[in-house]
Amino acid sequence: MAVLIHDIDLNYLDTPGAASAFLLMGDAPLLVECGPAACFDTLCAGIRAHGVDPTRISDVVVTHIHLDHAGAAGHFARHGARIHVHPLGVKHLVDPAKLVESSRRVHGERYDRWYGDLLPVPQAQIREWQDGETGTLAGAPFRAHFTPGHARHHIAWELPTELFAGDVGAMVIPGTQCISVPTPPPEFDTPAWGQSLTRLRALPPRRVWCTHGGAQPDGADYLRRAAFRVEEECRALASALAAGDGAAADSHYKSHLDRIEHIDRVSPDQRAHFLGHAFRQMNLQGAERALGKGLLAHTAQTAALTAAPTPPSPTR
Ligand SMILES: [Zn+2]
Repeated sequence: MAVLIHDIDLNYLDTPGAASAFLLMGDAPLLVECGPAACFDTLCAGIRAHGVDPTRISDVVVTHIHLDHAGAAGHFARHGARIHVHPLGVKHLVDPAKLVESSRRVHGERYDRWYGDLLPVPQAQIREWQDGETGTLAGAPFRAHFTPGHARHHIAWELPTELFAGDVGAMVIPGTQCISVPTPPPEFDTPAWGQSLTRLRALPPRRVWCTHGGAQPDGADYLRRAAFRVEEECRALASALAAGDGAAADSHYKSHLDRIEHIDRVSPDQRAHFLGHAFRQMNLQGAERALGKGLLAHTAQTAALTAAPTPPSPTR
């Protein structure tokens, strides 16, 4: 059954195209992603524009619990919606205090404007999914793919002709083909990200829906490019960190971002907005944390991880 999907622009960061929630018109209306609490009113207006009463949303399916994806979950739960999530995300939905605290640490004074007030989700309204599990929501068959890399608690949601890739599918700068790779602390993990994309690329070709960037009609081509960019970004972040601390790392990383694929189509304003100082700091912080845990493997290490293990030499 083909499900009609509406991409609702959340105007996140006061920027058209920066983040979406997806309204699926199955047997009943449901959402994939619900954006930050700060965009709740914008999302509700977008839902109403499709003739749906937001209080009738029965289910909200989230790719992960970062605040730009699931921050408004509690607002929908207040109207009775069930929230579908990775098991590692449950406790943060029930009690968002820690999530808010760590997000404030990453985003500083920008936090309030970007994310708004979170409401807790009652445990009884949370449905946690297991890896590979299938289920029908509002008449639409969903399959959950655990896909760590951007965050450990990340699920890409597969429907028969669609794939909601969340942030493991990276982000597309609005109106361009330029893919940017968000590597926030504390769970950025390059080998895991590479393996997650390998898994998604093995699915039959599907239209890919990026939460940051919208529908990518040639999903196979998109995921190939995203996988390339994740590897490239990992190498660039590793060499930026090797270049020194603070300003040295930042300027090294900035010069990489000035050269990435399709950057020539990105306006100076968009570059400042999407790849500016705040983005670079977030990514460098994530990379530094990953490096400390041995999870900023470069290409050769990533390739080695997916190759067959060398059998141990026999001991007698
Ligand atoms: Zn995101």
